[in-house]
Amino acid sequence: MTKTCVIVGGGLAGLAAAIKLGDAGWKVTLLESRRRLGGRASSFVDASSGLEMDNCQHVLMGCCTNLIHFYKSLGVSDAITWHDKTWWLRPKGGMDCLQSTCLPAPLHFAPSFLRMRSLTRKVRQDIQRAMWRTMRMGSSESETWRGHSFASLLDEWKQGDDTRSNFWTPLIVSALNLPLHEASAVFGLQVLRDGFLASAKGARIGVPSVSLADLYKPSAALIERSGGEVRLGSPVTGIEVEDRCAVGVRIHDELIYGDAVLSALPWEKLDALMGNEIASMDTRLHQLSELGHSPILGVHVLLDRPVLHVPHLVMPNRNVQWLFDKGSIPSGGQHLHAVISAADDWMDRSQEEIQTAVMVDVIAACPEASSADIVQFRAIKERRATFRATPTAEAIRPHASPATGGTDQNIKNLYLAGDWCATGWPATMEGAVRSGYAAAAAITGQGGLEADASAGWLFRALSSS
Ligand SMILES: Cc1cc2nc3c(=O)[nH]c(=O)nc-3n(C[C@H](O)[C@H](O)[C@H](O)COP(=O)(O)OP(=O)(O)OC[C@H]3O[C@@H](n4cnc5c(N)ncnc54)[C@H](O)[C@@H]3O)c2cc1C
Repeated sequence: MTKTCVIVGGGLAGLAAAIKLGDAGWKVTLLESRRRLGGRASSFVDASSGLEMDNCQHVLMGCCTNLIHFYKSLGVSDAITWHDKTWWLRPKGGMDCLQSTCLPAPLHFAPSFLRMRSLTRKVRQDIQRAMWRTMRMGSSESETWRGHSFASLLDEWKQGDDTRSNFWTPLIVSALNLPLHEASAVFGLQVLRDGFLASAKGARIGVPSVSLADLYKPSAALIERSGGEVRLGSPVTGIEVEDRCAVGVRIHDELIYGDAVLSALPWEKLDALMGNEIASMDTRLHQLSELGHSPILGVHVLLDRPVLHVPHLVMPNRNVQWLFDKGSIPSGGQHLHAVISAADDWMDRSQEEIQTAVMVDVIAACPEASSADIVQFRAIKERRATFRATPTAEAIRPHASPATGGTDQNIKNLYLAGDWCATGWPATMEGAVRSGYAAAAAITGQGGLEADASAGWLFRALSSS
């Protein structure tokens, strides 16, 4: 008989799991509280401009192998534009271009890196030393950094203040959504190894050329094609547990049963749904609130003329860390998107305060903006953008299967997915898809994760791991 699974949450974790379960012959019912799929990676129609806007620019990297596989399954791979260049704003205006070459990794960025005028010689030497130390660090030495912050790793590597502000802060804060002193050293090392050094392909930046809504739109049809059902506007109000075994979920008075129940909710929603009595039956749920949240501010700026002439720009020593060209607007102007990660200090600021501060940075990056008119300005505060990927978070993140580690201390048949689960990745779309794939594999006993991106031959020869 066909096995059934109830999935709660239609973000990337839930969607990825649903597609894998469908592939394995399971019948899926996916319940999503909102009237749209995509969760924290989604779009809305802005009432005043009529434009479809993403809640925030989402980027991926070439090393996100599971996310790339997910895009292939959805048939949307062509909607990702890959860049082997990043542009960096110089302190006194102008830009450097960090560009991959055909030199073997880890040397692929070397020629353009050595030409970066925004970095002094001393800063470049600091970075080279840090990259070398990263590459030579075997997995056992990496492990010794578990429980430490990335800032303490920079202390060990004797990285100067200029190096931190001009290079490490924009890179790591954008990748991990936390300041250096809070971000986990282990994740920082992963960003450097997989996202920078190991291969030119892994270091590519992927930017969707369509809205996030369009990117994830094919998932519902794919789930339905394999016999599954997607129910939007269906907020689950409880998980039914009998004799310490999850048997289904509740939407008010309606009970939906499944052979397996998969929560693909954000941690705080699961925490609220379970209540103390049920949560006490599952060791995976005991410390969830310690994961916390780190906010992101995504700012849409519509100007009456084009001012940014590169696809995206990293902005060291500025409030805005990344500025993106989102294309032209119907009146002929330009749609810019500015991202401020680790944005705790921005959540209580007014739109006017944010506009003043962000426009200072936009003008510093694009002098033509000083004479441009603002057609529209809209800042989107995502207070619960990601969990805080701190050195202590790893110990709290739960596994998908209740039986991992051979324990019987958890609720049977209750599987977990979400970017906050134990994926080994920080809170990213890749982490979310990994968690969904891992949960589907735990439920069906089939499949698993995609292979990690392969490292180049020279990197492998030089690295000690
Ligand atoms: C502003 C911002 C910028 C980001 N930038 C990037 C980036 O550049 N690159 C990157 O890789 N990642 C980025 N991320 C992170 C990425 O969006 C997330 O890691 C990923 O989308 C999380 O997916 P998820 O499925 O785990 O959770 P979610 O997307 O949160 O999905 C959970 C779903 O559960 C639903 N739900 C909640 N309660 C219920 C209920 N009671 N019943 C039914 N359904 C319910 C929610 O509506 C939601 O759809 C960013 C996130 C934000 C917010």
